[in-house]
Amino acid sequence: MSHGRSAVVTGSTSGIGLAIARSLAKAGYDVVLNGIADAPTIETISIDIKKEFGVKVSFHGANMTKPEEIRDLIEHTVKTHGSIDVLVNNAGIQHTASVEDFPDDKWDSIIAINLSSSFHTTKSAMPHMRKSGWGRIINIASVHGLVGSSQKSAYVAAKHGVIGLTKVVALETAETGITCNAICPGWVRTPLVEAQIDALAQKSGVSKEQAVLDLLSEKQPSKEFVETSAIGELCVFLCSSAADQITGASFPIDGGWVAR
Ligand code: NAD
Repeated sequence: MSHGRSAVVTGSTSGIGLAIARSLAKAGYDVVLNGIADAPTIETISIDIKKEFGVKVSFHGANMTKPEEIRDLIEHTVKTHGSIDVLVNNAGIQHTASVEDFPDDKWDSIIAINLSSSFHTTKSAMPHMRKSGWGRIINIASVHGLVGSSQKSAYVAAKHGVIGLTKVVALETAETGITCNAICPGWVRTPLVEAQIDALAQKSGVSKEQAVLDLLSEKQPSKEFVETSAIGELCVFLCSSAADQITGASFPIDGGWVAR
């Protein structure tokens, strides 16, 4: 089913996005990688995916704060791969501080990268998907799209916004063969979270191992990280025909975080 179809994954040079790109490539999708990384890293990732899964891989370095570069990413995909069939909005950043201390520029960049970029990619990709009568838009939100945590005002606001956008896009495409859903991971051990583990270890004066345990114990009842590959496999499922009627939904994958 995926033969000849192509998928764009924003922020796929690292962490969850890279795992999603690998899962989609394994399922037969050509992939367009995106993110901020040095040239050797991009080359290694691209060659590895090509060799391992035998699909076409390209890279586009659109900065998710720049709508014109985002439009170019979608045009690049259609020109280079013939179509854009799957769009995974994954790029994201984090900054933690109380509302009073939250720097204005950090607020603006989190809203731009974690929320507005999904609007711009979706707006550009939708006409192509409508024309082909099939499409999958998957937004990597977070448990923070469903519940709040202190010190994360911009991130929580952006992720709640992503879930709202997901619902509207699902309604506007309901009769078109396009679906739009959100995935809401709990703690996943990626560079984005590694920085928070380091900050916690320093603040509490404990070892890194203890900081990991404290971080998980506070929010994630399973006390285990979510594997990046599990999120990739959920994306593959949402691209399958079994998921044709799943749209506008938000899927926690969080070891029980939002159940309590
Ligand atoms: P990560 O730091 O490993 O990866 C982030 C990716 O986004 C990288 O490829 C980076 O280059 C890219 N990126 C950052 N700024 C960009 C920009 N301006 N333009 C283009 N690309 C940019 O982080 P991750 O943990 O893999 O996060 C991926 C997504 O998953 C984010 O949206 C994050 O909010 C979400 N998420 C992560 C967790 C977690 O625990 N790690 C939990 C829930 C949701």
